[in-house]
Amino acid sequence: MDLDTALEELSWIPRPRILALRRLGITRVRDLLTHYPRRYENRLEFSCFPRDETVDPVCLCGDVVKTRLMRFGGRRIFEAVLEESSAHALSQPLICRWFNLHYIQKVIATGQRLIIFGRVKRKGLRLVVDHPECEVIEDDEEILIHFRRITPIYPATEGLSQRVLRGLIFRLLEQVDVASTDLPLPDSLGNGDDEDALRKIHFPESDEQLREVRVRLVLGEFFRMQMQIAAARVENSARAGCRHQTRGLLAGKFIAALPFDLTRAQQRVLNEIQHDLHLASPMNRLLQGDVGSGKTVVAIAAILVAVESGSQAALMAPTQILAEQHYAVLRNWLDPLGIRIALRTGARQEDNTPLPLFALRANSDSGSARVSRVGNGVTPSRTFSEDAEAVGAHYSKRRLPHFEKPWAIYAVTIGTRKRRCLSPKARTIVLDALRYFHNKRYEVFAACVMPDHVHFLIQPWPKENDDKRNVVFWPLKELMHSIKSFSSHAINRIEGSRGSVWEQERFDRYIRSDRDLTEKFEYILRNPWKSGVAQQNENYPWVWAQENDRRKGSAFRRDAETSTRDARATQTEDNTTPQIIVGTHALLYENVTFSNLGLAVIDEQHKFGVAQRAKLTAREPAPDVLVMTATPIPRTLTMTVYGDLEVSTIDEMPRGRGEIITHLLNADQLGEAITFLREQLTAGRQAYIIYPLIDESEKLDAKAAAKEFEQWQERLEPFRCELLHGRVVSPDKQAIMQRFRAGETHALISTTVIEVGVDIPNVTVMLIENAERFGLSQLHQLRGRIGRGAHTSHCWLVSSDKIPETMMKLAVLEKTTNGFEIAEADWELRGPGDLLGTAQSGLPELKLGDLRRDAALMRKARRAALELLEDDPGLDRPENQRFRSLIVERQGQTFSHVS
Ligand code: ADP
Ligand code: MG
Repeated sequence: MDLDTALEELSWIPRPRILALRRLGITRVRDLLTHYPRRYENRLEFSCFPRDETVDPVCLCGDVVKTRLMRFGGRRIFEAVLEESSAHALSQPLICRWFNLHYIQKVIATGQRLIIFGRVKRKGLRLVVDHPECEVIEDDEEILIHFRRITPIYPATEGLSQRVLRGLIFRLLEQVDVASTDLPLPDSLGNGDDEDALRKIHFPESDEQLREVRVRLVLGEFFRMQMQIAAARVENSARAGCRHQTRGLLAGKFIAALPFDLTRAQQRVLNEIQHDLHLASPMNRLLQGDVGSGKTVVAIAAILVAVESGSQAALMAPTQILAEQHYAVLRNWLDPLGIRIALRTGARQEDNTPLPLFALRANSDSGSARVSRVGNGVTPSRTFSEDAEAVGAHYSKRRLPHFEKPWAIYAVTIGTRKRRCLSPKARTIVLDALRYFHNKRYEVFAACVMPDHVHFLIQPWPKENDDKRNVVFWPLKELMHSIKSFSSHAINRIEGSRGSVWEQERFDRYIRSDRDLTEKFEYILRNPWKSGVAQQNENYPWVWAQENDRRKGSAFRRDAETSTRDARATQTEDNTTPQIIVGTHALLYENVTFSNLGLAVIDEQHKFGVAQRAKLTAREPAPDVLVMTATPIPRTLTMTVYGDLEVSTIDEMPRGRGEIITHLLNADQLGEAITFLREQLTAGRQAYIIYPLIDESEKLDAKAAAKEFEQWQERLEPFRCELLHGRVVSPDKQAIMQRFRAGETHALISTTVIEVGVDIPNVTVMLIENAERFGLSQLHQLRGRIGRGAHTSHCWLVSSDKIPETMMKLAVLEKTTNGFEIAEADWELRGPGDLLGTAQSGLPELKLGDLRRDAALMRKARRAALELLEDDPGLDRPENQRFRSLIVERQGQTFSHVS
């Protein structure tokens, strides 16, 4: 037995346990042994029962002397009275209470000895512990595993008690050769090798040993992560890049013409970037700076360096509005220098389209390099006969899987209701809907929209971290719902129909192997021809697959090659090729339109996935990449998630900025804010009113938005208001922003579509409704839209939520406008979850180390890894051979998520 042995192969583990473990993603010996304890209880000696409340949870041992079950209305309360084993005159019994937990009364009985863990509270004369974690001491042969030692307590698991889990791990540790689990550490990280580390972390002999072994294992974990990052850097610097050797004349002209001087921070950062641009190896740099710190100006100067050297540069923004704004800013500043700039976004090239919300238009030419479509007309025909049996022949009838594994890939089929036949337009919408969430919530590897059903291969992405810092993935069910409701809505709109277009989805297959994957991939891509919906030589436009696919020899590979060839063919220097291309993510999929791309600037990185960045840099020669983010990133995270990037920070604001004052408001104090708002509008200022529709595609009730809007119009009479949200069609959206920018409208009632980057200095008030629903960083981002001119600005956070955590969160904003402080606080309050999931970074998952608590260890590990690879980039020296495994693993794991 070794670490990769499947638990199933171990006959002594009962089948139901295997299934319960699998639900946790634990299938191999390694998974179980790295299922680390969440905490420990020192069961060598217990402290006395407390006489009063305790601040922290305590671990106590006592005898159950009485139990009772009470009912209050619908509530059931189970109480167990616990007495200290060596009770004396002063001891006071402790009451443990559980509410509405039916099973607990079956577990606990008078006469038992119980270990509990929880916070003691005083309730009148009684001392109580509500919902303690508890374990009954049973006198079996396993008692030595569970008691009279420092006992591990594992993350709570459904279907597996602490006792069972502990027993399994104990037994496994006896059987497996734990020495092989040790991750190698260089001497500089000290501690030497500890072959027994894994045993000690589960069953430590003393607190001291536990501390030592934890450090050892965390360092191992961190060092592995940093080795992978460092190796990526080595690899990157060895790639052929573009050397932009210029005298910086264009950039100089541009800066000289600005109506302001660069701040010192801007100047410093620009120097750092220029230094990288001059080198032959590709730049990979993160530019961070608070909202309004002037990153765009720096980016433009960098772009001009690339342009002067004869390369093309691309500037990418996450939204249509931002891309338009960048385009306008660039034209304004660079037209006088005679620079050719092009705007390439889906919507601009494709007017009066049914779904302007989509950044990627499947039926435009722009998003096309990876779409195998040429022809147009396909007569709608049926794949299936009416007879349901025929359906079964194509896919099985299983429903969605009842458990989902991290990074699992599924083949899913959704049929239309009553076998309704989708028109060509509707099929395009469906393909768009699938692609809309692609690289945001999931990755789609292949899809085909047939006349009455759709097949696709999908891999859900991490959604957030739950309160125990576990990564939670998008549930398949939720994803299906999004795709279905999104497309139903749009189809109904163009066809004037109603109701859902879809029936229940069918989960076709859970992809278990590469072979599985290839098979399904090909099946999907060939389906229209195989099933006779399309003739052999006919094209079927509603088939889609990802480019740059690892699976060589697939139909798709050819597409990638062809498009590269086409891209080369268009590389002619003439006076019509744009020198700068501005656009949305859609640019990433447009190999063909780039010619000699030398620098790519990605604005507001956190909306771009790591995968997208990788996609961009996959071309040869590798363009320089500058990633800009307005969400300041806590330092530990820049060492990890962005560890392969160099970091430049603008830590200074331009002078002459008005102050931003932030107020928290109760919903019933709204009147005050409105009075104030009217005063500001009267003085000629403008305002944003933000209401929280976080996921518009699903939650926007057009009626509610309209009502909201009407109400504001009344409140602000006679000032002019306009409404902006994700469903407003794109040309209208531009027009609305244009009128607002020009001061023709006074207040913009909007969802978060204005979130990033919008720059209108005359807006001095922002009112955010239901502020509690936003994250701190998002609120900070939103607030960054004001305070851009010389006037003092005001941000009103309206919330009727009185929960202390909410108040604490919002109070942070009242206190500071420093993005780094806010980022740290945000991180503190809710973990790195959707700020920047490490899971999405493709780095190995951290099972033991805590990015915040162990930041110092991370720094140490990083230094060691960088030094090691600097000395010996190829790990060729004999003494470094042992580290190779750390990096090789990366090829298999990391890139599989990124490519
Ligand atoms: P960011 O992208 O970092 O949020 P922008 O680049 O959009 O910030 O800059 C915000 C505003 O500040 C723009 O109107 C820009 O013209 C202006 N600005 C940039 N740098 C300076 C500076 N050094 N002094 C004064 N204003 C500046
Ligand atoms: Mg910006």
